[in-house]
Amino acid sequence: MSASDSRPAWRLVIHGGAGMIERDRVSAGEDRAIRTALNHALETGTAVLAGGGAALDAVEAAVSALEDDPHFNAGHGSVFTWEGAIEMDAAVMDGRDRNAGAVSGVTATRNPVRLARAVMEESPHVFLSREGADLFSVRQGLPQVPPDYFETAERRRQLDELRARPESEHSALHLKYGTVGAVALDTAGNLAAATSTGGLTGKRWGRIGDSPLIGAGTYADNRACAVSATGAGEYFIRAGVAHEICARLRLLGGDARAVADAVMADVKALGGSGGVIVVTPRGEGIWSFNTPGMYRGEASPDGRSVALYGDD
Ligand code: ASP
Repeated sequence: MSASDSRPAWRLVIHGGAGMIERDRVSAGEDRAIRTALNHALETGTAVLAGGGAALDAVEAAVSALEDDPHFNAGHGSVFTWEGAIEMDAAVMDGRDRNAGAVSGVTATRNPVRLARAVMEESPHVFLSREGADLFSVRQGLPQVPPDYFETAERRRQLDELRARPESEHSALHLKYGTVGAVALDTAGNLAAATSTGGLTGKRWGRIGDSPLIGAGTYADNRACAVSATGAGEYFIRAGVAHEICARLRLLGGDARAVADAVMADVKALGGSGGVIVVTPRGEGIWSFNTPGMYRGEASPDGRSVALYGDD
């Protein structure tokens, strides 16, 4: 995607994960269903932005739509932990004042991104975890669902496959990262970012990835950009990816695509794979990934597009 010459009134970019996403690995039916889901999420966020709504509302709406779709590893369709539980992470950030909210290891909130926003707006904290976050969600009156709402047969199969293999082969089984995210610029010139995930299949010992960590998988700053990441979270944490992209743009300026590519090259040099989506105050919408494909889409007053593969 290339930058436009003049700033669009608004811009939305979304992702549904990166990885070994290649034409011969994705069935025709799956390809169609994923494109439909990405388009639906774009429409949901577009309805907010085109009506003059806030970037924060748009990223929450788009990520909620992706959480509701079983094809992605977030909300309904989240991956299983080693013990067969579902523990989800999410974060949201407002570029106006760098206010942020995040949750980790939540088990019953239908839309974890909404819980992250409630943490930001209704608590004095930025990051809540596990039982405390679940309790806060109930107290906030957010919709609660039983564990089987999140489960799908495909995620169960993936866990069974992982558990049947020696531990030395586990990282090679993480072929596709299905975390979801959105970044937006609204007509008032404000930026926001949101990310939501089930984490990694077979995660243990309370493992937390980059997605809910402000600065690693999620960041928004009106002075620079908004970023949401997906991939092998441990490397994104070590590289501080989302903040690194924003900080380089704020302090050094330059071409946003080149900056995102450079930070993703750094992730690769550490041994990590995945991708990022970025929106700038000038309305550029960018994605950068070092995997064969990434589920992604973007919308602006000029139109809407979705893509899955590297050559899409
Ligand atoms: N980044 C996520 C994590 O490490 C995984 C993903 O992108 O699907 O938890």
